[in-house]
Amino acid sequence: MSDYLFPYKDADFILNDLLDFDRMCLDAGLEDVNAELATAILEEAGRLGSEVLAPLNAIGDDLGAKLGENGVEETPGFAEAYRQYVDNGWASLSGDEEYGGQAMPRALAAAVVEIWDSSNVAFSLCPLLTTGAVEAIAAHGSDELKSAYLPDMVSGEWTGSMCLTEPAAGSDLAAVTTRAVPEDDHYLITGQKIFITWGDHQMTENIIHLVLARLPDAPAGVRGISLFLVPKFLLDENGRPGKRNDAFCVGIEHKLGIHGSPTCTLSFGDNGGAIGYLVGQPNNGLTAMFTMMNEARQGVGIQSLGVSERSYQQAAAYAKERLQGTRSDGSRYPIIEFPDVRRMLMVMKSATEAMRGLIYFAAAEGDRTHAAKTPEDARKHAARTGVYTPIVKGWISELCQEITYLGTQIHGGMGYVEETGSAQHYRDARIMTIYEGTTGIQGLDLAGRKTLGDNGEALQDLLDEIQATAGEMSAIDGLATMAAALKQAADAGNEAKDWLLEHASQDRNIAGGVSVNYMMLMGYLCGGWVMGRSALKAVQLLQAGGGDQAFLETKKVTAQFYFEHLLPRTASYLATVKSGSESMMALDAEQF
Ligand SMILES: Cc1cc2nc3c(=O)[nH]c(=O)nc-3n(C[C@H](O)[C@H](O)[C@H](O)COP(=O)(O)OP(=O)(O)OC[C@H]3O[C@@H](n4cnc5c(N)ncnc54)[C@H](O)[C@@H]3O)c2cc1C
Repeated sequence: MSDYLFPYKDADFILNDLLDFDRMCLDAGLEDVNAELATAILEEAGRLGSEVLAPLNAIGDDLGAKLGENGVEETPGFAEAYRQYVDNGWASLSGDEEYGGQAMPRALAAAVVEIWDSSNVAFSLCPLLTTGAVEAIAAHGSDELKSAYLPDMVSGEWTGSMCLTEPAAGSDLAAVTTRAVPEDDHYLITGQKIFITWGDHQMTENIIHLVLARLPDAPAGVRGISLFLVPKFLLDENGRPGKRNDAFCVGIEHKLGIHGSPTCTLSFGDNGGAIGYLVGQPNNGLTAMFTMMNEARQGVGIQSLGVSERSYQQAAAYAKERLQGTRSDGSRYPIIEFPDVRRMLMVMKSATEAMRGLIYFAAAEGDRTHAAKTPEDARKHAARTGVYTPIVKGWISELCQEITYLGTQIHGGMGYVEETGSAQHYRDARIMTIYEGTTGIQGLDLAGRKTLGDNGEALQDLLDEIQATAGEMSAIDGLATMAAALKQAADAGNEAKDWLLEHASQDRNIAGGVSVNYMMLMGYLCGGWVMGRSALKAVQLLQAGGGDQAFLETKKVTAQFYFEHLLPRTASYLATVKSGSESMMALDAEQF
């Protein structure tokens, strides 16, 4: 029996009542996709998640992946689960039809991916990286590469990996030293990559690595990095995996969490050079890699949501069972009756729902970019997606730390020991603020490229929309207090943006010093916006007597809690932003 059930009602509310899924599909020219189909897909995915993947979560944590004589051996049971995942068509859900994909909207795909992430985040990392690799090859690869590799990657028959990190090149990819030397129609790659997620396994007959490397005459820095496709097995004359390429896993990491996901050291070219093919233009590899990273960054946001939801469900169930209060008649009552336990559960519940809303909103923006009728429209939606991405990755992964922490706290001592599984969520969550660009890097992206880069234009557009929601809410009976709070938080967002635009050029440490707090402010604000829109819709539906009344009443209360307990954090983040970076930079390195 699984301890996890996908929150269908919340997903349905966001997709249909907030995003108008049917309309979105029609606008995107997807006449045969609608809410009914989405429900059926989510129910089917929920079954695979709850019945097959979720029970493997603890097994993956316990047994992990191992390095054997023939490479990485994944956790027992993962290969069979992966087979079911591929055979049932899940790998190709949102893939391009040109390569055999089902072209389902991203907003729906995000909901489906939440299921995989809640069920078994270590397992779901493998498809996440494949999806990112597919996007990068589709956007930047030659027609030859696309037709040779994409159909099998889209179907999930082959998986993908992302090979950026080296011992001396982590956040700073300018330091990449892996080399690529041209030879005939390909390149010979030599070098070592570390921390490569699902860099090796036996679940599929091929693995397609996307590798950052330097050409012999490449300029120094990020403008001298190129991207290469390096298959584990080279394709034979029939396009099938044949000869083994010179790319091997030489070690896997022992780590805090996600034990079921092998984190590999990959060595390229120990026997003369791994054969690789250029993706995109020489020395422009980072642009191509960013296509993959942006996809993966949104994916880490969904992971953080998924693990938060699972942690919440477990904590709520435990809080209803664990007896710690004694009534005057001697009977005992469960900890869920204590206000402080309620506080923790409500933080978990309201934050998780805000995360979910923001993630589906961001995914829908991707759909709108795709469906845009004019270049101007496409540019506008792409810019909004650009603003969402660091918030979805940075804020949500940070918030996931607090949620999984609270999940453990609610379990008391049983949360600290491993039996309940609560500790696993806490450990698994920890990586999410680190990989795909640390929180520091997400903050810099939002403050730098996404605010200073366009003089705050795309962000202003979002802030205006949030103010408009506050205006709508203020006209509704019972929502005036929340409307005022949302307006105040949006004003704080505006003030922070204007402060940054005004002060960033005065001192080079300012943007770097305030950026994470700036991003967290925008995250709590976006969460407030989503919950505000949820409350608005819930009240409208309740007044009209439609929808699931009990769910809508619960949503109203959850939104109110978010407004009272989480949205006020925007004010303290604004205060920290406006304090600049002077005191944080005042001490010499020796004074630490
Ligand atoms: C389990 C796991 C899986 C991974 N999977 C992959 C994978 O599949 N592919 C891959 O290529 N890599 C992968 N990584 C690597 C991961 O992306 C890096 O660990 C991450 O980008 C951080 O780099 P680093 O570890 O070198 O830390 P560093 O870059 O050394 O950072 C250390 C600290 O300094 C801060 N910092 C660094 N530069 C700046 C800056 N410019 N401004 C402000 N602060 C800064 C960081 O925020 C951080 O707090 C994985 C790592 C782990 C642990």
